[in-house]
Amino acid sequence: MTNEEMENKLKVLKTDLQRRLSAIDADLGAALDPDSEDRITQVENDQVLTEMRREAREQIASIDAALERLKRETFGRCVRCLRPIETKRLNALPYTPLCVACAHLAV
Ligand SMILES: [Zn+2]
Repeated sequence: MTNEEMENKLKVLKTDLQRRLSAIDADLGAALDPDSEDRITQVENDQVLTEMRREAREQIASIDAALERLKRETFGRCVRCLRPIETKRLNALPYTPLCVACAHLAV
């Protein structure tokens, strides 16, 4: 994959995430109805949404970092050990900053 193709792929992913994020924000913005029997379900639902929002934001931040690495031409290299990231891993997770070995260490 060329850098340009990778950049497009990352931008498409980012647009998707931003769309998802505004949908989550809209859902969370909906006021809780204190008299609703579904209140507990709503609260649980909000917790799930809040978690999803956190994940989406983290992913967007990772994508921005990956786009920055593309610009600096360090993309595809592990930020920790500087070895090339496995192609298979990059295809599955194009915005990952770490190779398989370092990702295991980071957990
Ligand atoms: Zn590494």
